[in-house]
Order: sequence, then C-alpha cells, then structure tokens
Amino acid sequence: MKVLLASSEVYPYSKTGGLADMVGALAKYLAHAGCQVVLVTPLYSSIRARHPELQRLDWKLELPLDSHLVSGRVCVLQPAHRLTVYFIEHSGFFERPGLYQEHGRDYPDNAERFVFFSKAVVNLARYLPWRAQVVHLHDWQTALVPLLIQDQKQRDKWLRPPRTCLTIHNLAYQGQFPASTFGLTNLPWSYFSMEGVEFHGGVNCLKAGIGHAQGLTTVSPRYAREITTPELGFGLDGILRQQDHLLTGILNGVDYTEWNTEHNPNLHNAYHKDDLSGKTAEKLALQKEFGLPVNAQIPLFGNIGRLVHQKGIDILLGALEEMVAADLQFVSLGAGLPEFESALLDLARRYPHKVAVRTGYDHGLPHRIEAASDFFLMPSHFEPCGLNQMYSLRYGTVPIVRATGGLDDSVIDVRENAALANGIKFDVYSSSALAHAMRKALALFQHRDLLQHYRNNGMNQDFSWERTAREYMKVYENILTRD
Ligand code: ADP
Repeated sequence: MKVLLASSEVYPYSKTGGLADMVGALAKYLAHAGCQVVLVTPLYSSIRARHPELQRLDWKLELPLDSHLVSGRVCVLQPAHRLTVYFIEHSGFFERPGLYQEHGRDYPDNAERFVFFSKAVVNLARYLPWRAQVVHLHDWQTALVPLLIQDQKQRDKWLRPPRTCLTIHNLAYQGQFPASTFGLTNLPWSYFSMEGVEFHGGVNCLKAGIGHAQGLTTVSPRYAREITTPELGFGLDGILRQQDHLLTGILNGVDYTEWNTEHNPNLHNAYHKDDLSGKTAEKLALQKEFGLPVNAQIPLFGNIGRLVHQKGIDILLGALEEMVAADLQFVSLGAGLPEFESALLDLARRYPHKVAVRTGYDHGLPHRIEAASDFFLMPSHFEPCGLNQMYSLRYGTVPIVRATGGLDDSVIDVRENAALANGIKFDVYSSSALAHAMRKALALFQHRDLLQHYRNNGMNQDFSWERTAREYMKVYENILTRD
C-alpha cells in the first residue's frame, strides 16, 4: 500500500508535542509493515543543519495564495527502507524560532503558512510519479487537503485522486481564521458554507477536513466517543456525530526503540523489570541534579508537558499546595502559559527541598524524569491519547491520571481490575480529587510488595507500534474499498 502522511511536525525533525511522536512512529512502523511511505512536512530552521544529507529536488513549487503566486522548494531525505521524507521549503514561512508561535502568541500569518503547506501536499500527491493511494492528514494544519483534492478532481480534471484520511490529535485546535482568509484557499465561494469550511462566520480548517475526508480517526477509543458530545466536542460534535460512521479511535503506540530503560542514551543507568536498582540510581541522580534531598525513601512525583489549561495545571497547583506538607518531592518540566510557569517556579522557591521546576524544552530530561519518578501526574481536563502515561508504565513509574480520553484507555485502576492494576485514576476534575489520588499513592509507596505489583503490571503492558500501525492499515483498506 502507498501512503502519503502529511504533518506540520514530525519527530525527529520537529516537535512541540505528541503529534510529532505519533506521525514519526506511524511512518516508521507502516514502512516496517511493508507499506511504501512518503512523509511531507515543513522545512523548519535547523533541520538542514542537523541533516546535511538533505537534497534539494529540481522541483519548484508555484502555488496560488489568493491573488499571489508563492514559490517554494522541495527537499528530500530517505531515512529508511520504504520511507521517503519530503520537506517543503519556504524560508519566510518556516525558518522561525517557533513552529506555530513565539512567546505564547500564534504567528499572525499561520493561515498563509499552513494553506501554503496544504497546497504543497496536494501538489506532491498529484505530481509525484510515485502515486499515493491514501493521503493521511494530521490535525488542522493539513485538514484542508481533502477539500483541495476534491476541488481539483471536480474543476481541474484530476482523474483518480488518492483517498483521504484525517486524524484528529486534539479537537481543541481547529485552525479558525477570519472569513477574509478564505481567499487564500482559492476555492470557489460555494465552499464557504455550512457544508464546507464556514463556521460561525469564519474559516475552520478542521471542520472542512471532518466534512470531506473519507476516513476519520482519533487517537484513543474513549476520545472518539467524547468528541461526539457537546462537553468535549468544541462546537464540532454535531458534524462529528454526522460523520460517526467514518470515525475510529486508535490508541497511539509507544516507540519502544526511543522510550525504553535498557538501551537508552538519555539515561545514566539501565534497568529492567527484574532489577530496578538502576531506577533507584536514576532517582538519586535526578534528586542531586535538581538540588533536592537525595533519599530513595522519599516518594518522588513527576510531571512533564505543555503548561496549558488542558493539562490540568490549575488543579495540579491546588493539589500540590495541599500535599506539599507531606513527605514527598515533586519535579516538573514544562513550557507554556507564563502564569503557569511562574506559579510552578514560585512553588519551587517556597519549597526548595520539595519542589524543583524546569521550564523550557529538553530532549533528554523527560527520560530521566520518567525513570527517576515513583509516580507521574497527569490530571488532564481532557486528553486525546497522552503519551507520558504510557512511557511511565514502561519506566516502572505509576501514573496518576484523570479518567479521560486515552488516559482512561491505557491505565488500569485497582477498582477496575486488582490483578492488572498499574495506575491510580480519579474522576472529578478538582484539586481535592487529585490530592486524594496522591494520598493513595503515598499509601502505595509504603506497601513495597503492592508497589512492585503495580510496577510489574505497567512494565509488562505492551503498547507497541506494530499493533497500532496494523489498525491504521485496516482503516486505509476500508477507505480504499468504500465507494
Ligand atoms: P500533547 O501532544 O498534548 O502535548 P502528549 O502526552 O501526547 O501531549 O505528548 C507530549 C510529548 O511531548 C511527550 O513526548 C512529552 O515528553 C513531550 N514534551 C512535552 N513537554 C515537553 C518539554 N517541555 N520538554 C520536552 N518534552 C516535552
């Protein structure tokens, strides 16, 4: 099967969150499974410096954006057998310090940037001699592609265009812009309608994708159900209910070649489930690195992630205020809203022996925090899939999660199954519910046998990408056989 994946971020070339991890791994594992995979992604700053083997193709993009023709170039890499990556080069659009924003503010020309990128994806899908059978889009940045393809089929005699699939990684981000940006698409105005891209008087890229892709997926079964409800549908639950027959929830996999404790250059000590002494050594090393009292007997709670409302940082701060009197430590790594960054840093200033906070983005530190922590906190308000709880399980770290989306699908609480319990879940979105869950964790920490049981269960859990890639291949097959 020939699949073209298009995404605004792909690990290891660019990353702000789980989207990059997911697309990078999906491409790799589809290729392992025998698919011919093409990836299309923007050429951001530093990619060229990190990949000197990158080659610029003799392919000049001249794409209309409203009344202008905008030029771009295409560069290529072949990182693995059956996997080719095409980078869309436009220095004005993509060579910037951030992917979507700087200092917490979205770039004002994100509509231009990603409409241009989407048109480049369509151009490659149409004119690469290698003909994709399925074009798999990810999130709002590429969600106009199904409509652009449909339009070229109808108006521009594209005879047998590929089928399209759209994965929603996070419904909260829809690519909404003022109506005046519609001209950038160069689509007929008839598409600026309820059935097309129009949403409350503006443009909504994700809505257009939901309405026009031939297959829809999201990143966990529970999230697939949640987004069809008004509570978590972010205004698109109606159209998602209409398209429910096309929607599948597939839990993301974990790339265990990156996220493992036995062969990991980011860790000082290797360990595995039959001998956790390396995990204890990681804990002591991290306590030292973060300037906390070095003592294996103090339970250590970790958190890594974007510091945004979705991640439950407000209830995390409330719970920590309540729990910080207990004998525990908390470490966090995150970047995001300035008010959350400063609230966490303030907590660390007030409790320097208990709380240590790093802000910004770091490649190796997440591995060390996952390995060192006894418990990992994910009190998300909503969570399409979430990766860190699955990393925690493999690292022998007990996740404490709110029962939502992929967190609910991947963590097992003792109330669900005592034999298989591997984490602690709570339901109500409140600081006191999270604090209650943390108290359960402190009790578990004193019960060494029970803690070991949870860790074993977690480390035995297998979220490998082979399974996830197979599920996507089934979706592609369905799309190809559907009329
Ligand atoms: P989301 O995609 O909503 O951000 P996920 O849990 O799906 O959340 O994925 C987050 C990914 O980004 C994980 O691989 C996590 O380790 C990583 N990550 C988040 N924040 C940081 C950070 N500040 N530094 C390094 N990695 C981070």
